[in-house]
Amino acid sequence: MTIAAPPKRTFDPMMPRMGHYRPIPDTEDKAFSGWLQGQFDDLFSSSEAPPRCPHCQGGETVLAMRAAHPKPVLPVFRCVSCDVHFRRTTGTPISNLKFQNLEQFIRLLSQQRPVTEAAAILGVKPATVTRWIKRTRQWILELDPAGQWESRVRLGMEIRPDIACPHCGVPDRMHYRGFAADTGDRQCRCDACGHFCRLSGVLRDQEPGFVLEHRVVVRPPSSRRKA
Ligand SMILES: [Zn+2]
Ligand SMILES: [Zn+2]
Repeated sequence: MTIAAPPKRTFDPMMPRMGHYRPIPDTEDKAFSGWLQGQFDDLFSSSEAPPRCPHCQGGETVLAMRAAHPKPVLPVFRCVSCDVHFRRTTGTPISNLKFQNLEQFIRLLSQQRPVTEAAAILGVKPATVTRWIKRTRQWILELDPAGQWESRVRLGMEIRPDIACPHCGVPDRMHYRGFAADTGDRQCRCDACGHFCRLSGVLRDQEPGFVLEHRVVVRPPSSRRKA
């Protein structure tokens, strides 16, 4: 039996990590946005066709309350066997999130950007965006346990080049730090020795056939960058 390799998250090392070096380009994965929007549309649907019960998974369910203005926002169903009321969101990781600008959030989710940037675009706090990302990733993994779709989420993740420092040789302390003013070359800095180098130079020094891999770092919202 072969175990499938986990789906790979792909990043572009030339993408600025922060907007203050140069504007962060739009890297939306449109197939991902389309798929996720469809999932949200189903979840937040006003359809009155009763879904299965989230508690017993049974099909003996009926409509209990139509969606109406102002409440309930979503139709409420009842399971005849369990005698409980539920919505389509009940039992999902996003059941009690109050999304604002959901379409924009979906468009940002596949992009290589920091949380603080996304928070500014969405007009909410970074901690809120972090919570939305975390819960939405959990929900996506429930919808697609193989992880293909989840691996397309890139918002709020920092990448570090998986290369040793050419100066001190420490294997895992290099990170991206801006671009060279003259050539636009990607610059790296080693946390261990503080040495700066250009990515192209480091790559030139590798064995033939070397493929640059990245490690993913989930960036917590920084307390130093208050709005
Ligand atoms: Zn039930
Ligand atoms: Zn070093």
